[in-house]
Amino acid sequence: MKKAGFIFEIGQLIRSEQGTSYKFELDDEVAFEIDKNAEVKSNVQGFVSFMKVDRGILVEITALYLQLELKCMRCTKKFTHKIISKSASRVFLFERKKKDSDVFDEYFVEMKSFSIDITDFLRQEIILHFPMIPVCSSSCKGLCPLCGKKLNDGDCGCKANKPTKLQLQTHKPLSILKDLYKE
Ligand SMILES: [Zn+2]
Ligand SMILES: [Zn+2]
Repeated sequence: MKKAGFIFEIGQLIRSEQGTSYKFELDDEVAFEIDKNAEVKSNVQGFVSFMKVDRGILVEITALYLQLELKCMRCTKKFTHKIISKSASRVFLFERKKKDSDVFDEYFVEMKSFSIDITDFLRQEIILHFPMIPVCSSSCKGLCPLCGKKLNDGDCGCKANKPTKLQLQTHKPLSILKDLYKE
């Protein structure tokens, strides 16, 4: 088997017995865009193995590591996020089944060149390990809605930053209702 970036020639594997497998080490530059809000800061590292199974090739990515820079959704500062994934696997099918409705999650062997391109699989796996809420720190204070200053750097003095009564009471929805009725 040969490897060119994230494309692997599997002609030899296709001709082999079921259960035959090959393993490669990944330490490659990411030449594709992962997400417009993510900047790649390291090579993608890990291992990828290919095993011939019944209807295709089982591809497993293990010990995946990649360093990214993401933008804090509160203060817009860039921060480092490490993608770490122990193991993920997908079967790349030899043939497209006509009736399959779930096309999104299906991968196929490129039968013209007998190759497998793991780019999309890799991208999906990386995105799966993005933080749910990208923030530089859980205590990030964000930006002042009036002057735009980063509040992590200190108070800007704008009145809007003083928490209002309503904000202080958001964990007590009933008392807010009471206040509303009074008005
Ligand atoms: Zn932040
Ligand atoms: Zn301000």
